Amino acid sequence: MDYDIIKVQLDGEFKICPSCGYKDGFHSMFRKEGGITRWLFICPSCHSVFDIGFTV
Ligand SMILES: [Zn+2]
Repeated sequence: MDYDIIKVQLDGEFKICPSCGYKDGFHSMFRKEGGITRWLFICPSCHSVFDIGFTV
């Protein structure tokens, strides 16, 4: 893993990137950790990875 995962508290909506301000939403990625699969979001502009607590 060569990226940081930024934990975000989901408050209303998650559309604007907290890192760079990009406001058109996110790409998705999934990461298996032990018994769960985390649903992570990647900013298309600055490529920060966010975890808003979703699992699949
Ligand atoms: Zn960004």
